[in-house]
Amino acid sequence: MESTKGKKMNKLIFQSLASGSSGNSYYIGTINRGLLIDAGISARTIKRRLEAIGVTLDSLWGILITHDHADHVRGVGTLAERYHIPVYTTQMVHAGMDRNYGLTPKVGAADRRFIEKMKQFDIADFNVMAFPVPHDSTDCVGYAVEYNGVRFCIATDVGEPTQVIQEQIAMADYLVIEANHDKLLLARGPYPQRLKDRIASPRGHLSNDNCANLLAKNVSSRLKHVYLCHLSKENNQPNVAYNTVREILMNNGIEVGKQLQLTVLDRTSASKVYELL
Ligand SMILES: [Zn+2]
Ligand SMILES: [Zn+2]
Repeated sequence: MESTKGKKMNKLIFQSLASGSSGNSYYIGTINRGLLIDAGISARTIKRRLEAIGVTLDSLWGILITHDHADHVRGVGTLAERYHIPVYTTQMVHAGMDRNYGLTPKVGAADRRFIEKMKQFDIADFNVMAFPVPHDSTDCVGYAVEYNGVRFCIATDVGEPTQVIQEQIAMADYLVIEANHDKLLLARGPYPQRLKDRIASPRGHLSNDNCANLLAKNVSSRLKHVYLCHLSKENNQPNVAYNTVREILMNNGIEVGKQLQLTVLDRTSASKVYELL
């Protein structure tokens, strides 16, 4: 029989290391070994924040990359070079990272792993699938990660909801989803019109109310916790995002705190460690 300690060690945990346009990185795994999703902050900060929860970089099975924008890849070259952690993403995202002048060093050939969208693959005990997400990068994917029957899903930098994203939300036990901006704050905010148009376009970012409506339509009874990610500093506020999503869910008969938990991930600091049951 497995000891209580063994069970605890094998529990799935999630932590956001940073989430927003200044940098994104998430840990999903056990306290022993796991996966990093995106590495958009410095390798040093990732190392420090993981070590604070007892996870060492040597124990990472891999890094899953969503797309080649700097706020998702900034630290990945250094992590791969120093620790030889395999970097998983599509051929197009790998090519985009090669063209990204801001990314030095590049991910070495031996550390690259090429994956295909909508094709499941295993990394140790984790079953992983990348799914397409519309965004103005070279290519962009979300990830569904399954471990011991628990399904974790992340969709960030979402230009617009698609059928595939809706299906993935409906299958998730735990979900990280973008709530980038409040439409009014964006419209009245300081950004130049061109940038405002880019953010609001179907290949830009998901607004609070689009996120909320996407959730309201697709939340299933298995979904336990929704984490709102990639909040804009200029065009959003944590309480605005939280209240917009909570209200729209409530209007659709879904009570936050009862049917599911709702958390806004902080832009610059690490979240607490969440145990995923
Ligand atoms: Zn981003
Ligand atoms: Zn992006």
